[in-house]
Parts: sequence; structure tokens; C-alpha cells
Amino acid sequence: MSSHPALSAVLKLPRLAVRAVPIGAVLATFVHLARGGFRSLHTLGWDEAGLVLFLLAGLGVIGWRRFTRDAVGAPLFLQDDLELGAVFLASAYIVVAIAGGELFPLVYLLMACLVAFLPHRASLALVAVALAFDALLTLGGPARGGLSSFLTHTLFLSLFAVLNHLVLAARIAAARRAENAAVDKRIKEVEERARTFRLVNAGAHDSPPDEKDQEKWLVASVKEIEGAVGAALEIAETALKTNTCAAFLLTSDDKGLKLYDCRSASDHVQRERFNAGEGVLGGVLKRRAPVRMHSAHGLKGITWYDGSAPTVGAVLAVPIIEGGGLVRGVLVADRLTHNPFSDDDEKLFTTIAAEVLRSIEVERVMSYIRKTRDEKDRFFRAIEELNRAGSPEQVFLAVLESARQLAGLDFSAVTIVSEVEGKRVHKVARMLGVSAAGKALEGRTFPDNNGLVANVVRYGAPLPGRDLKAMDRQVIFDEESQIRGLAALKIFPLTAGDRILGTLVAGSRRKTALDHDVLRMLEVIAIQAAQAVLRAQLYEQMERMATTDGMTGLYNNRTFQAKADEMLAHSRRYGRKCSLVLTDVDHFKSVNDTYGHLTGDQVLKGVARILKQQARDTDIVARYGGEEFAILMPETDAKGAKVIAERIREAIKAEVFQTEMGPLKVTLSLGIATAPDHGLDKLVLVEQADQCLYYAKRHGRNQSVTVAEAQGGRKLQAAEG
Ligand code: GH3
Ligand code: MG
Ligand code: MG
Repeated sequence: MSSHPALSAVLKLPRLAVRAVPIGAVLATFVHLARGGFRSLHTLGWDEAGLVLFLLAGLGVIGWRRFTRDAVGAPLFLQDDLELGAVFLASAYIVVAIAGGELFPLVYLLMACLVAFLPHRASLALVAVALAFDALLTLGGPARGGLSSFLTHTLFLSLFAVLNHLVLAARIAAARRAENAAVDKRIKEVEERARTFRLVNAGAHDSPPDEKDQEKWLVASVKEIEGAVGAALEIAETALKTNTCAAFLLTSDDKGLKLYDCRSASDHVQRERFNAGEGVLGGVLKRRAPVRMHSAHGLKGITWYDGSAPTVGAVLAVPIIEGGGLVRGVLVADRLTHNPFSDDDEKLFTTIAAEVLRSIEVERVMSYIRKTRDEKDRFFRAIEELNRAGSPEQVFLAVLESARQLAGLDFSAVTIVSEVEGKRVHKVARMLGVSAAGKALEGRTFPDNNGLVANVVRYGAPLPGRDLKAMDRQVIFDEESQIRGLAALKIFPLTAGDRILGTLVAGSRRKTALDHDVLRMLEVIAIQAAQAVLRAQLYEQMERMATTDGMTGLYNNRTFQAKADEMLAHSRRYGRKCSLVLTDVDHFKSVNDTYGHLTGDQVLKGVARILKQQARDTDIVARYGGEEFAILMPETDAKGAKVIAERIREAIKAEVFQTEMGPLKVTLSLGIATAPDHGLDKLVLVEQADQCLYYAKRHGRNQSVTVAEAQGGRKLQAAEG
């Protein structure tokens, strides 16, 4: 619609006049007040009454404008707030003028209210208006108080305005803080719920690249999962006018039903697991088809309420069936009236059942993703741990720890197989178990038998092959060491190349603990473990080779030197005695010459064996070189060393060495030196022992000689000479 500009201006005039009413009224009031109007109630004339009406009209205009703007959602301007405040101010001044200066605090109060309710800028402008008007009245007008009165008014007006403003600001800040706290709390709640849905890390320590996005995603996922089934049930509830509309899922053994979600007017929907084979729902699950029933006298077979169940007049129940035909649960709707469910109701409800199924699937997939992500993480950490382990001890512990963590085992063990004189011997190297009896098994060895461990090593395949009924009667290690209370068990071979090094035993009290995924993981752990055990064994072997003598199995000379240093250092520090015995086989060259080097070797091995047997556990026996051996004897004086030396000498002398060339006999000469008596330096001590040995050789062989004896003998010789 177009119109002439002048015409439209004329048409606007009445509106402009109305809009001017509030300001006009305020100005007129102020002018009248400034001229000494509104002196008292008695002098109230028609003109003043007219002014009051004018103000009221202004208030009416303001009110109407606010109402209409609010109705269309249009914003208010500074001007609107100013008008409102000014009208109130003018009214307050009228009251003060009539009632006298004692009521002036009314103006302060009004100002405080205006500051509290009006926006910042409007309230400031109003304070200015009030002050200006006050100046006009008290200073320029018919002097009703003068300067002091104006200053008091100014002070209080400003003070009230400022104080109120501050209090308000503080309260707003506090409210904002409270709101933030509430929001934080809500986010935490959502996160917590998400955690139970296993959407995020249990610890949630790793902050994602964009936290805001992550949070949104999180909230959305939870809402979606939480909401989808709920929304579907809500639709059903509204559309079908049900008393209860609920989804029940079958428990893992398929024998029970458990509430998943429901919308119900009743508080008695069964929240505990109940029998899935009974009543209406049992029928639905058995027939795998929807069921509709109604009765004026109340239906039987209503199992989805606890104790105080309402009387149900009509039921509609549909099975929740997966694509593969697997029944997951049942969706049920009931009415307390016997108004039956229709064909259309059933169609709708079947659609909703599909929707519920989809939501459950989404949740399951989500939790699966979450679970596998978590497991992969733990798995690789476990493998890493395994690869770091150095000694067999560390490897065993790492294997068992990772197996337990990954599979939640109650019992686990590593066994190692070795050959002793051509026969297999199994050893429980390490175990993590629950019972004290189990702990005692650690270190236990048992021969090859018909137990599971022995068979796993024999056939190189995991055992037992299938779930066993009488698990307790299974022999895992040997007859004497029974492990009781396991509901699931699997023993894996530790295979490295074509060698089987031992087994990994995994057991749980929970029957379902070793599911397909866990078994697969344990299998990989076993492979990795075998590699680690092999590495550790090779390492140990290498170390053994570096420290021991290959032929006799005794410490080699290098180790002897290190051990001698250690022993002497200890002796020096604590002032303790220790002894060194050097031995040499008598006329050994002739053994070699007569019977050959190989026979000589056999004899040497025998001598080494006897030395080891006759020495004490604390003594260190080493092959010093050739057919010479050394024995370090910590905490042993010359007398003590002599006793052991003699014991050895006698044993060698008595031994008949069985060789390929027939039985042989040898004798041994020994020299004994003791620290600190004959020196604290290793070289000196060795020299002393060597001299004693030389003395023994000189004086008929097959004897042990201490330093004291050698010195005494020399003195004797010297005296005789
Ligand atoms: P003595 O009573 O003076 O010790 O006479 P002996 O013949 O034993 O003389 P000696 O200790 O000097 O000789 C050591 C011999 O031992 C020399 C060497 O042929 C032999 N021998 C050293 N090491 C080995 C070894 O590993 N195997 C064999 N079969 N013989 C060795
Ligand atoms: Mg020799
Ligand atoms: Mg010799």
C-alpha cells in the first residue's frame, strides 16, 4: 500500500501525540513543582488533579507500549526505560512536595528500585534527571532547603544508586558462578553416564585435540543412545494410550528378562530379572510372533509387574528379533481398560520394536568399539612390556601380568620344559594364583606325565580342546598338585620356531571368561612370551658361557679373579679372614701320555665334580687353568681351610675314575694361603698359595700345605741343612 508522504505524516500525528504524553506529563509536573505547586492536600486544585491524571495517562501509554512491544517480541529502548523512570520520579516528587521534606527518602528508595530493575544506562540517566530536577527545586525554585538540602539529596541519591548497583553486580556475579557450577556438574554427570556407556576412556586423561567438539560429540552420543529407546517408547505410549510400554531384553543365558527402558503410569514395573519362559511374554518369545489379548476381567500371565500389579485389560507384545533371527527381547504395551489393541497398533508397535533393536545395536557396537580400543591399547602395552623384559624371571612375570590384565584371569602360570638325561622335566617357573596352595607350586618340577601341561608340550597345541564339565578332575601339572575352583581353562604351548619351551596356563573362575577374543589374545601373548623366554634363555646361556668353564662347569679364571677381588675387599673392610687353595693334579702329564687327552679330560671332569662336592656352598670353586683348580673360602682361617683341603684330597685319592680306558686313580696336591695373615693383595696371596703347592709337590705330592707348614718345614730344612 502506497500513500502520499504528507498524508502519511498527517496520519501519524495522533500516534505522535499519544507517544508524547509521558514526557509531556513529566515536564509539566516538574515545571509545576518548580513553581511551588503541590504545596499540600488542602490546596490541591483542579489543575493539580489534572496533572496527576496527565501523569497517570503517561503511565498508561508506557504500559501499553511495553505490552505491545513485548507481544511482538520487539526490543525496548533506553527512551522507554527513561520515560517510565521519569514518570515514577515525578510522582515521587509530588508525594514529597505534598507530604513535606521528611518523606524525601521515598525518592532514594524509588531510585534504588529503578537502579535495580532498569538497565544500567537508563538508571544512570535517571539519577542525573533526579539531580537536575532537585537542583531546580532546592536551588533555583522557591527555596525549600537551599544548598545543604541539595547536597544531602545529591549524596544520598548517588550513594543509593551506587550501592544498589554494586550489590546487584555482586549478586549477578554470584548467580553466574552458580550457573557455571551447575553447568559443569551437568557435564560431569553426562560424562559419567557416558563412561557407563563405555564411550570414553575410563580415566579420560588424554585430552582430545578439540575438547569442545569432543564434549559435544559425547553429549550427543549419550543423548542419542539414552533418548532413542525412550523416545520410541514415548511415541508408543502416546499413540497407543498405554498404561505401560516397556522393552525387556533377554539375559545372556536366555532364561531371564530384564527391563531395558519403560514408560509407565505405574511404579511397579518389574525392574529385577524375571523368568522369560512364563506368561504372555514367554509365549511371545516361544512363538517369535506378536501377541494381542484383552479381557474384561483382567488378563492372566502378566509377569512384568512386581508385587502390587494393576489389573491389565489389554496387552500387545512383540518380540525383538535381530536380522540373523536371534531373539533379543520383547516389547510390551498394556492398557488397564479392556479396549483391545488394533491391527494398526500392532503395525506401529512392530516398527517401534525395530527402532528399539536398532538402538540396542548402536549401543552394543559403541561399547564394542570402546572395548576393543581399550583392549588393543592394553594388549600392545603388554607386548611392549614383554619385549622389554630381560631375564627369564622378568619375562615370566611380564607374561603373567599381561595375561591376567588382558583376560582377567584368576589363575595363570608359566611352565618351562627341559631335558635332564634325555627325559623331559617340567617346571612351574612362575605363577599368579589365588590360593596359598597355588603359591607353593612355584618352582615345582614334575616328570613327563599325562597331565595337560605335559600333553600341550607333547603335541604343541592348546588344551583342553573344549569346555570341560569336571574341571576339578583335570590334572594341570601332576596328580599331587591339583588346582580347584576353575570354571574355564586353557593351556597354550610356548613355541619358538620348532622348539616348545613350555606352556602358558590360563584359568578363570568365571565360565565365560575365556571367550573367543580373549583366547586369541592369549595365543598371541604365548607366541610373544615364547620369543621372550627364548631370548632370555639365550642371554642366560651366553652369560653362563662367559663366566664358566665349558668343560668342567666350574667358574673360569676370569670369574675367579673377580670373585677373589670381591672376597679380599670384604676381608679388608670387615677385618675377616679368608683363604685361597690352589690345587694341581699329580703327574697328570703321564695320564695324558698313557691314556690320551680324552681320557685326561674325563678325569679332569671327575676331579672338578669332586671339588664341587667336597667344597662348602659358600666356597667358590674355579678352574684356574689346565689341570689346576682354585677354591676361594670366605670367612675361613688357615685351620678351617686345611680341613676342607684334606677332605678334598682324601676324596680324590679315594675316587676311582671310570674312563673309556678303564678305571683310573689320581692324587691331588694343594697349597693354602690365608688373608690377612699372608697378605691382603690378591697377587701376593696367589703367590703364597702357589709356593705352598710347589712345596707339596716337592715333598711327595698328594698332600695339602699351609703357609705356616711350608715356612715351618723350610725352617726345619734349614736347621737340618
Ligand atoms: P705334577 O705332578 O708336577 O703336576 O706333574 P704334571 O704332569 O701334572 O705336570 P704339570 O702340572 O706341569 O702338567 C700339566 C699337564 O696337564 C700338561 C697338559 O698336557 C695337561 N693338561 C693341561 N690342561 C689339560 C686339559 O684340559 N686336558 C688334558 N687332557 N690335559 C691337560
Ligand atoms: Mg699343572
Ligand atoms: Mg700337575
